[in-house]
Amino acid sequence: MPERSAGPAAAAAPASRATELTGWGRVAPSTARLAEPADPAQVAGLLAAAPAHGVIARGLGRSYNNAAQCGGGLVIGTTAMHRITSFDASTGLATCDAGVSLEQLMVAGLPSGWFVPVSPGTRQVTVGGAIAADVHGKNHHAAGSFAQHVPWFDLLLPDGRQCRVTPGDDPRLFWATAGGMGLTGIILAAAVQLKPVLTSRVRVDTVRTADIDETMACLSDTDDRYGYTVAWTDCLARGTSLGRSVITSGDFAAPGDLAPRDRRDPLAFRPGARLGAPRGFPGGLLNPVTVGLANEVWYRKAPRKREGEIQTIGAFFHPLDGIRNWNRVYGPAGFRQYQFVVPFGQEAVVRRALERISGARAPSFVTVLKRFGPADPGFLSFPLRGWTLALDFPAATRGLAGLLDQLDGDVLDAGGRVYLAKDSRVRPEVFAGMYPRLEEFRKLRAELDPGGLLASDLSRRLEI
Ligand SMILES: Cc1cc2nc3c(=O)[nH]c(=O)nc-3n(C[C@H](O)[C@H](O)[C@H](O)COP(=O)(O)OP(=O)(O)OC[C@H]3O[C@@H](n4cnc5c(N)ncnc54)[C@H](O)[C@@H]3O)c2cc1C
Repeated sequence: MPERSAGPAAAAAPASRATELTGWGRVAPSTARLAEPADPAQVAGLLAAAPAHGVIARGLGRSYNNAAQCGGGLVIGTTAMHRITSFDASTGLATCDAGVSLEQLMVAGLPSGWFVPVSPGTRQVTVGGAIAADVHGKNHHAAGSFAQHVPWFDLLLPDGRQCRVTPGDDPRLFWATAGGMGLTGIILAAAVQLKPVLTSRVRVDTVRTADIDETMACLSDTDDRYGYTVAWTDCLARGTSLGRSVITSGDFAAPGDLAPRDRRDPLAFRPGARLGAPRGFPGGLLNPVTVGLANEVWYRKAPRKREGEIQTIGAFFHPLDGIRNWNRVYGPAGFRQYQFVVPFGQEAVVRRALERISGARAPSFVTVLKRFGPADPGFLSFPLRGWTLALDFPAATRGLAGLLDQLDGDVLDAGGRVYLAKDSRVRPEVFAGMYPRLEEFRKLRAELDPGGLLASDLSRRLEI
């Protein structure tokens, strides 16, 4: 185990203010003191003066649930620590503060041909949040999850000491922190190995499938052929159409694939201004009828088969980022994201989940089915080799709690799990059954943080 240094000298803690916070799903608000330190010394000052009700880090608040909340305690927002401290354009290695966003890394790396190794469905995610949730992208089958591309991070431990953690020198602390949802310490900085690309466009093939069997067969077939692949699934389709989907698969384009006008600047990337969703959407806008219609239109407008379409990074990786605050569309009650994974061989569980969801008319427009590659060693990391299905349900959907309890049961029996960055309602005993390394994680936490300083609304609910 490497030396742990005394850590940054604690500076005076910056001001904090009482703030009501939610996750992206806007369910389960709670009020905490929110402080936004500008440097590690201020973070150390905040930890040293931490309140009894616990402390947790918060990045851009894109986890759907209450993972980055600490009701009655202190939330340390990291987005004021947002410097890219070095970038080597010959190797693609970036070092940065934990509050740097994936969008910032893209803006810094793309001009010299480097892209983030793993991108979730939004680039409005901090590096600290990406490590803490060990996020995955459309390339999990090929590239694994985010922490596999992190050579080191600097962690401020609950006792105020600081260490540079690498997977080689301290695998236990590294892999407890990757996926550990902020419960081992505050990540202050990290190195991220970017991946080389020749252009900033993706060459995309699309296939529309008729049912779940064809969807699964097509997805299985794409594993070896594409770096990125994912299916949008019509979760309300039933009977012979159950699981009908639109599968998009792709890889970064070569300069010769681009339209002549784009070849002049093949690495162009302009995230640009985003449209904002207005405040005050009423509840109930997304319901079985409207989502059923939207799903029908989305499915029908997709081509049966199309090859070689050139898409921008935004269109392929982050379509939802085009509209700021799109989460308001769900109205004041918010929405619950549900994502599970089950091992290969448990295809029947995916089918049953779709039968249960379509049978209950539980409306989700953003429904994604994907195949994961091998798990990494993260104690609480979500991905494992198998099928993952993600859905967004309006929180006010009638019968949703019972439906998701049923799905939990099926997933648990199949040796699967739900995702900690998204879950807002699984029961603690079910969660414990899903994560076999939870006891190891708790043991390490007890060693690092005997006083239980680090805590979130999520960790309290799930007794992590
Ligand atoms: C539209 C959308 C699409 C998404 N798609 C995907 C996807 O495809 N794949 C995927 O894996 N996820 C996906 N997510 C979830 C998102 O990637 C994760 O929740 C991610 O952790 C959010 O990062 P953040 O900076 O917003 O962190 P927050 O949501 O603020 O925090 C998340 C967790 O990280 C911890 N944390 C944050 N910063 C630090 C730090 N410096 N030190 C220690 N702990 C820290 C927090 O305590 C919390 O537990 C998506 C989210 C949205 C909104």
